Amino acid sequence: MIGLFRDSILSIIFPSACAVCGGSVESWRDGSACSICWTRTRIVTGNESACSKCGLLLSDKPSEHETYCGRCTKDSYDRAVYAALYHHAARASVLQMKAEPYLAPRARELICSRFDNSGFHAHTMLIPVPLSRKRNIERGFNQAEILARQLARHSGIPIAVDVLDRERHFAMHRAGMDKKARVASVKAAFKVRKPRKAASERIVLVDDVYTTGSTASACADVLKKAGAAEVSVFTFSRTVYF
Ligand SMILES: [Zn+2]
Ligand SMILES: [Zn+2]
Repeated sequence: MIGLFRDSILSIIFPSACAVCGGSVESWRDGSACSICWTRTRIVTGNESACSKCGLLLSDKPSEHETYCGRCTKDSYDRAVYAALYHHAARASVLQMKAEPYLAPRARELICSRFDNSGFHAHTMLIPVPLSRKRNIERGFNQAEILARQLARHSGIPIAVDVLDRERHFAMHRAGMDKKARVASVKAAFKVRKPRKAASERIVLVDDVYTTGSTASACADVLKKAGAAEVSVFTFSRTVYF
C-alpha cells in the first residue's frame, strides 16, 4: 500500500515515460526504463559461456572449460566483468546516470548481485575510471564514481579516487575508429598520481561501459607499472558490437 502510494507520488515527480520505448514506467525502482524494457535487457549472470578474460559472450550454453575470444589477449587487465549488455534498460540507465548522479534501485541491485558473483571478494581497492578535470567540471560528477561508491558500500572494499588521473579525453566513439586506433588514442591519457598507494593492491577498476577494452587496458597498464598486483575491471554494461 505504501509502495503504491509512493509510486503514485513519485510518478508525479519523475517523468514516467520509458526512455527506451516511450511506454509508462510503473515503478520508480526501474529508473528511466519500463519493466518490459528491463525484461528485454540481457543480464549477465556469470554462468554463460564467455571469454574467461574479457567476458565476451560466446554462447548461451554454459561451458565447463576456460574459453578465450582471442581478441583481448594483448589487453593489460586481468579480467573484465559486466552486469548487462549495453542496450534497452541498461543503456537508458547509463545515459540517465551521465545526466544526473543517480542510479535507480533496480540498476543498483543488478550491479551489486553481479559484483557478488564475480569473485572480487579478496580485492583490496576500487578505482573508478576518472574523467579528465575539464570533463569533470563540465559534468559536475563522474558516473564511474557513482557506481564505484555503490559497490564500495555494498562490498566493504575501499574506494580510491586519488590514485589515477586522466589527462585528456579523446573522441572515443568516433565512427570508423578501429581497436588499434583507439588503443593508440587512449594511450598516455592516464597517469598514476599515487604509485605507492597502488603498489601490491588487487584493484577493481569501475566504469559505466566497456566498449573495446582500450580504456580499461590503458588504466591497467599504468597501474601495473606502478606495482599493482592485479587489475580487473567491473562495468555496468558492455556494448554489443565493436
Ligand atoms: Zn520501455
Ligand atoms: Zn576476450
